[in-house]
Amino acid sequence: MTILNSTGQLLQQLIQLPSVTPNDSGCQPLIATRLAASGFINETMPFATVSNLWSRRGQQSPLFCFAGHTDVVPAGKLQAWQHDPFSAILEGERLYGRGAADMKGGIAAFITAVERFVSHHPHHRGSIALLLTSDEEGDAVNGTVKVIERLQQRGEAIHWCLIGEPSSQQQIADTIKNGRRGSLTGQLQVHGVQGHVAYPHLAENPIHNALAALAELIATEWDQGSPEFPPTTLQISNIHAGTGASNVIPGELEVQFNLRFSTALNQALITSRVTDLLNRHSLRYTLNWNLSGNPFLTSGGELLAAAKESVAEICGFTPVVNTSGGTSDGRFIAPTGAQVIELGLLNTTIHKVNEQVKLGDVDKLSIIYEKILEKLLL
Ligand SMILES: [Zn+2]
Repeated sequence: MTILNSTGQLLQQLIQLPSVTPNDSGCQPLIATRLAASGFINETMPFATVSNLWSRRGQQSPLFCFAGHTDVVPAGKLQAWQHDPFSAILEGERLYGRGAADMKGGIAAFITAVERFVSHHPHHRGSIALLLTSDEEGDAVNGTVKVIERLQQRGEAIHWCLIGEPSSQQQIADTIKNGRRGSLTGQLQVHGVQGHVAYPHLAENPIHNALAALAELIATEWDQGSPEFPPTTLQISNIHAGTGASNVIPGELEVQFNLRFSTALNQALITSRVTDLLNRHSLRYTLNWNLSGNPFLTSGGELLAAAKESVAEICGFTPVVNTSGGTSDGRFIAPTGAQVIELGLLNTTIHKVNEQVKLGDVDKLSIIYEKILEKLLL
């Protein structure tokens, strides 16, 4: 029978608080109490329905920050779960529950790493902080972005930021993310003239007009990628036209597409290339853009080096460093000039039913985090 140690116990407590986004459900107060006992000063920064916690120990520079989120995605179909998603059932070596890997396991590892580090080294150099939000899985409007704004207003600068998102692929700590691609969505409306299909000369079919342009759009090579980033990609995610009737030429065509782009590009470059393309095809259109995140990259620096060395010492292998996957809250932190990396649990069950973690992985992650603190703050 597996006995839960301190990291496992904390993780179990956190899973049992059903913090479906944007609810925190008491996770941050629990964490704040733990951190206060280790000499942290807690500051809650609620915005609208979102709970945020900024907890800091020490006033000196450099400032090391663990960042993450207490909210989880909904459990989905309850019947599909082997165990209740908020009961945190332990089965053998595995703890089951929504948020176990994404990312309450990471948070539990932050806390126990900090507790051990501070008790062994109460006079460490610099400062340690935790930045936690309940808004990462939702709109990400009132979470990390707002906390960072407030910190910047008062001149509080993060030097090193470790985000505990589940970055590992096959085994714990095999992958560190040192950046993410940007994400830009285009909402295109191609205008035509509605009419009867038997009288096409009296109408203008936006589907016919747009097809060649869309074919060119998806065949475009945006860049060639770089050692740090895969080539930029564009995917059409939604397309709609027509009234449903077979005898009506539609008046409008709507297309939604999304680009995942590297630091070789930016919104202005992309929009001008897309606009040129559409204009060359003489379309009548309206085009709106939504930038959900710029790309960011921490190509070197002490934080990445300390993380790689710590993984090598504790796990006995060198982790892969890449920028794959969707965007993360790092997009709000990196523009301040902070070095930002992501290192966390396995991502194999995140957002799925039967989300789970191996307790040994959570323990190892906590030891890696502690080692990183030792390398940077002693
Ligand atoms: Zn997450």
